Amino acid sequence: MGVYLDTDSRFHRDGAAYSLECPHCGAESHMRVGSVPDFRQMQMHRPKQIGIALHCEACNKPVFIRYRVRSYQPHKIEFMPGGQQIERPAETFSHQYLPPAVAETFRDALGCYSNDFRNAFAVMCRRTALAAFESLGDRGKMRCYEQASEIQRLADIRDEDFEIVRKIIFEMELEKSGAVPSLTHMQTIILLETMKDMLHQAYVRGGKLQKALQLRRYFAEQAEEATSGGTRVTEDQTDPRETKETRAHDSMIVRAVDRAGRN
Ligand SMILES: [Zn+2]
Repeated sequence: MGVYLDTDSRFHRDGAAYSLECPHCGAESHMRVGSVPDFRQMQMHRPKQIGIALHCEACNKPVFIRYRVRSYQPHKIEFMPGGQQIERPAETFSHQYLPPAVAETFRDALGCYSNDFRNAFAVMCRRTALAAFESLGDRGKMRCYEQASEIQRLADIRDEDFEIVRKIIFEMELEKSGAVPSLTHMQTIILLETMKDMLHQAYVRGGKLQKALQLRRYFAEQAEEATSGGTRVTEDQTDPRETKETRAHDSMIVRAVDRAGRN
């Protein structure tokens, strides 16, 4: 069976439903098969790779997949299983907590990752690490190094995979030589998760904590004022999850705190 196109240009995939993480809406959604190449045209031109368009059932936007042709047969054209998704879901991070120089390079790094530019991703991760160590100082860099070891231990990452990631982040001599170690798909993922965790610990965690304390102080002051006025303010206004709703809520609170600071 496998993945193939029949003589009526119908796309078959082991009878299995297509379910993918949509690069547009982020939902793990069922995909409808939209456009597929024409069987006779393919037999005539014999391309080695083809593209098909799926449609996300959650947001109805097109999602493109590339397949490599395994064989041309009179009654079917067979493809290698495991098509490559052309657009990946965009990687997100709480950039607002990072110093501008770190945020700028890490945003570019995530863009490279989403587009599968592995070498460029590695280079931008190293630039991000350089900017971060500059702002954190030697002690901060040492903490990051220890944290990286902890990440390896917690996630049970093999030495041969982690060594290259450690080199990219910490061996700044590589920057001068211009050499970029090439990464496997798995090593790229490890580099991404290590960078995210490291930056989260170095900046995001503290930033959120400060904001939460600022917020509690603001509400405590409001509650004090309200004891004479009669309005009651509820507790538990913080949410560690980074969702659109909490971000909107956060910015509302920041505005409130700013206003309070001005008064
Ligand atoms: Zn979608």
